[in-house]
Amino acid sequence: MDHVFYSWSAQAELNPITVEGAEGSWFWDDKGKRYLDFSSQLVNVNLGHQHPDVVAAIVEQAQVLTTISPTVANNKRSELAALIAERAPGDLDRVFFTTGGAEAVEHAVRLARQHTGRTKMLAAYRSYHGGTGVAIGLTGEPRRWGTEPTNVDVVRFFGPYPYRSPWGTTTPEDETAAALAHLEQVIVLEGAQNIAGLILESVIGTNGVLIPPPGYLAGVRALCDKYGIVYIADEVMVGFGRIGEWFACQAWDVTPDLITFAKGVNSGYVPLGGVVISEKIASQFDHKPYPGGLTYSGHVLGCAAGVASIGVFERDKILPHVRHVGEDVLGAGLSKLAESHPSVGEVRGKGFFWAVELVRDGQTREPLVPFAASGKDAAAMGTVTAAAKSRGLWPFVSGNRLQIAPPLTTSEDEIRQGLEILDEVLTVADGFTVDG
Ligand code: PLP
Repeated sequence: MDHVFYSWSAQAELNPITVEGAEGSWFWDDKGKRYLDFSSQLVNVNLGHQHPDVVAAIVEQAQVLTTISPTVANNKRSELAALIAERAPGDLDRVFFTTGGAEAVEHAVRLARQHTGRTKMLAAYRSYHGGTGVAIGLTGEPRRWGTEPTNVDVVRFFGPYPYRSPWGTTTPEDETAAALAHLEQVIVLEGAQNIAGLILESVIGTNGVLIPPPGYLAGVRALCDKYGIVYIADEVMVGFGRIGEWFACQAWDVTPDLITFAKGVNSGYVPLGGVVISEKIASQFDHKPYPGGLTYSGHVLGCAAGVASIGVFERDKILPHVRHVGEDVLGAGLSKLAESHPSVGEVRGKGFFWAVELVRDGQTREPLVPFAASGKDAAAMGTVTAAAKSRGLWPFVSGNRLQIAPPLTTSEDEIRQGLEILDEVLTVADGFTVDG
């Protein structure tokens, strides 16, 4: 443990638990303590831990062929690309494989620049697009600060956030209208002729589970069409079932030009990601080389796991389960908790992806901890998080939010068990409110 240099962390302040094993929605440490995983490990293990079908597919593939260059064909790679293309919206029919989400973003941007011959990229504040060069440069949150200056020609815009509207609107419809008017201003002032692409998480993930208000994504699509800008939907976190659709943009009937994916494609059992590419863009490279590739692109073990995962989604009707249990049990349960806990400012989400936004003061909406707080300033969230973990619940904590993202295979009973623990955890959070 002492020789591992950990991500995004002050090394000496970390004291991570040692995880020994996992199954389904649970994992356990070396002392035998069990945790109900309401984080899916960075919103990754969509089919839960150690799904037997996916594990078996990896083992089977390893016995046949463990790796092969990305420039030759392989049956699992071809099969997975076809399965993804069938499920992607519109004419998004071709798949460029990567080893993860950030690489997928790097290549989506490269495709947009190659396609348009332009360089500027539009990206939202309150976004996360990955930890590598271009991806972290696009990222609109504090993790970028430590990496600046980044070498990306990026222009930022505000997206909708009805609970804390940048424009002071009071209805979702007004928020959509204000956000689209703002975005068009940014495009015009930057010069549409200079802008290659716009990247947007279909549901803003790490930065708050921000569900787009009605008409927003369609409006973004229309602006990109109007100005010839490539629309990249970053679905690394919300693709593959997280909100009850194969791709989250399908919930709003919107077809981007490129979709980035990773994580849920095979529950992260083997690193894999990619970009689903519209025919319009892909065909541009039919007779000229695409300038990019990775030794591990479309790793056959990852692809075999992806094929098996999609098989499980279909056989076990995962998407309907997410839609039904997500709304009727998880969403309804969280909303009920909000009624009795003054620390809950807002509950929002969809499917198996929810945020419980914690506030010190429900009237003023002052967050439980200040934006980008760390150390002492973030102590209240530290106490709330510790309260969850000591009770055997592992949430995904970001800023002043408990973000709830259980594996999509989690049963109704397990969700109820998690909600009971959350009830106790929110009582701890109530103690930090102005009335607490
Ligand atoms: N894009 C989004 C929306 C993400 O949530 C993430 C990771 O959480 C990434 C990109 C980066 O993915 P990875 O960590 O696999 O590189």
